[in-house]
Amino acid sequence: MKAMLLEKQDALENKPLVLRDLPTPEPAEGKIRIKVHVCGACRTDLHIVEGELPAHRMPVVPGHQIIGIVDKAGTNVSRWKPGERAGVPWLYRTCGTCRFCTSGRENLCDTPHFTGYDADGGFAEYMVVDEEFAYRIPDNYTDLKAAPLLCAGVIGYQAFRATGLEDRGKLGLFGFGSSAHIIIQIAVHLGFEVFVVSRTQKELDLAGKLGAAWTGHIDDDMGAKLDAGIVFAPSGELLVKALTKLDKGGRIVSAGIYTTPLPGFDYSYIYPEKYLTSIAHTTRENVQAFLDVVSRCSIQTEINQYALEEANQALLNIKHSRVSGSTVLVIHQ
Ligand SMILES: [Zn+2]
Ligand SMILES: [Zn+2]
Repeated sequence: MKAMLLEKQDALENKPLVLRDLPTPEPAEGKIRIKVHVCGACRTDLHIVEGELPAHRMPVVPGHQIIGIVDKAGTNVSRWKPGERAGVPWLYRTCGTCRFCTSGRENLCDTPHFTGYDADGGFAEYMVVDEEFAYRIPDNYTDLKAAPLLCAGVIGYQAFRATGLEDRGKLGLFGFGSSAHIIIQIAVHLGFEVFVVSRTQKELDLAGKLGAAWTGHIDDDMGAKLDAGIVFAPSGELLVKALTKLDKGGRIVSAGIYTTPLPGFDYSYIYPEKYLTSIAHTTRENVQAFLDVVSRCSIQTEINQYALEEANQALLNIKHSRVSGSTVLVIHQ
């Protein structure tokens, strides 16, 4: 099979992903083989390829927003049949036995495996995954529209649920990239009043179109206190300023895996009873809950398409922020 293989981490300008003809993987017991139709590309792939994230396995096929059809099932597979459409996100496998896995918090598993990082991912014609870590994709999304939901959408939804808000309320989104633009559509659908903070007018305009009740800059007066906020931008300063927008009992969730240092702040920023937290990865339960929600609304995503062989260029365009919206490699049409 054709695959874009990472043999050595390097700057994308040096085209570190190379087209190789690899043996088509065989699904072992409990695993399914997926014929990859499309695979999204995101900043995490960029960090794996260039080496900001240390290599876990080399060589490796990156890609963790996979949509395709089950092409072959290993022995003792009970949930899938060949021909069914399936999606595979970043969470490839958890141990199932550590104290986090056994208490419903597998996102904190001591020895997790990630798709396209610890195991070969979707920048290839085929990949294999444990049947328990693949998902049914709602029929109201094409392959292309579904792929970005599996990373930006899933992580955004993990952050959204970490706000603790279940019902209507005032929700702030700080930074408005691909994750935020999916979450605003879900929040509006669920009846939340959404306040969007961004530095760029283009993003604020998009937020307004997608139903934001208020848009503006961080130092502007929102005219109301928030029940919760999600900070998507990797800025410690923004995290601290977001706290000042909260009502009593409110919560700020940082959705990033990285942020700049937090400046010192007055106790009044977290008193009375305000919370600041981060999130890590996701659970299968969260992925499924997210897919259930998006099956009931029609999330709009803007897609940039590339061929498999163009993976270096696709990631380079993400690196230099040359594209807005989500990037997807088309492998089998
Ligand atoms: Zn575990
Ligand atoms: Zn991703």
